[in-house]
Amino acid sequence: VITWSDEQVELRSGLARHGAALSAEHLDLDRAGTFSREKWDVLRSVGLLAAPFGCEWGGLGCDFLTALYLFEGLGHVCRDSGLSFSATTSLVSTGIALADFGSDELKRKFLPGIADGSLIGAHAITEPDSGSDALSMRSSATRDGDVFRLTGSKAYCSNAPIADVLVVYAKSRPGGGPLGVTAFLVERASDGLTFGPPNSKMGLRTSPLGDVFLDDVVVPACNVIGRVGGGFMLLDHVMKREILFSFAVNLGEMQRRLEACIAYSTTRHQFGARISSFQMVAKRLVDMHVRLETSRKWIYDTAERMIAGEDVTVDVAISKLLTSEGNVASSLDAIQIFGGSGYMTDTGIEQGARDAIGSTIYSGTTEIQYNRIASMIGL
Ligand SMILES: Cc1cc2nc3c(=O)[nH]c(=O)nc-3n(C[C@H](O)[C@H](O)[C@H](O)COP(=O)(O)OP(=O)(O)OC[C@H]3O[C@@H](n4cnc5c(N)ncnc54)[C@H](O)[C@@H]3O)c2cc1C
Repeated sequence: VITWSDEQVELRSGLARHGAALSAEHLDLDRAGTFSREKWDVLRSVGLLAAPFGCEWGGLGCDFLTALYLFEGLGHVCRDSGLSFSATTSLVSTGIALADFGSDELKRKFLPGIADGSLIGAHAITEPDSGSDALSMRSSATRDGDVFRLTGSKAYCSNAPIADVLVVYAKSRPGGGPLGVTAFLVERASDGLTFGPPNSKMGLRTSPLGDVFLDDVVVPACNVIGRVGGGFMLLDHVMKREILFSFAVNLGEMQRRLEACIAYSTTRHQFGARISSFQMVAKRLVDMHVRLETSRKWIYDTAERMIAGEDVTVDVAISKLLTSEGNVASSLDAIQIFGGSGYMTDTGIEQGARDAIGSTIYSGTTEIQYNRIASMIGL
């Protein structure tokens, strides 16, 4: 069990003071499916987007666990889950990729902007015909002297409609298997790079997502992140961190939801008694608590072991599976505990379920996590 220091608690409570601003009008924004630049600026002013990056790149220099703890805090105080999702997407997809694998030149050019939020990042992996089977991607990167030419199309890219920079994964060696994929830092203004309109989606509606089209996009070879052919290894590295960051946010959201359910069920009376005194209601609250604590232990334990250099492939899969499925189950419990009011859109309780369901799909579906765990236990 991690004991957070006074300094870490103080950092996180600083964030809590911005909870009202980060949550403002979240129901209206969700209905309209609008990303709020004003609230992005609040995140920027708090410095959260800089948390895990080195001071030399404009970061706060927090260690990995402290950064996760702060993002759990974001989930707790920010009712605009789409905003939090856009934040983790930018920070991990582009920031972590650059910080851990980018050349000094790339870091100098782009990392300070990602850290202070003046640049928004995204990553483009999924294609219309390759989702879970990402290695079957068809987008190609052809070397032409000092540049690569990128062609193909990408689907469901979070932040794409608002991104200034994207990490695009493409095949630099068709038939090269995992060593045939390369990651490129691509700027929005690049010729031949176009974007589809934002997709309308059931949850995380304030985090814009859309298609990306690459029509002979010229990218300097110095924009390769890591090594040519090292893209799949980079993706594995980034995905592990994406899961830990975005599911740390989910922990905070699950905590906030549990607190709301306890507050409601201990004050709502039926049959002359608090509804929390009915065992079936109490069971739901206990299940929510157990799911939250189990997920929290897995996320932080996995993160601790990952930064100690252990292979946490299976642990990340278990953490993702437990937290995403637990989050969905708890969001449905919350609707049931709130009864009719939980089903109404003005309480924001049903929004939690719509937001939670996405987590069983992005960063590797539930089924893919089961497959990973199955193969690790020898099946
Ligand atoms: C909110 C959200 C944000 C996203 N953000 C991004 C992003 O920023 N960048 C990006 O590139 N992509 C992003 N995605 C796309 C996401 O990564 C894919 O949707 C996901 O990998 C699944 O791919 P797919 O949709 O093509 O489904 P498919 O792979 O076609 O899967 C369809 C169904 O078949 C199941 N299935 C597939 N293969 C197997 C198997 N071997 N065994 C068992 N079941 C299997 C799946 O689990 C699923 O239930 C996002 C998606 C969502 C919902």
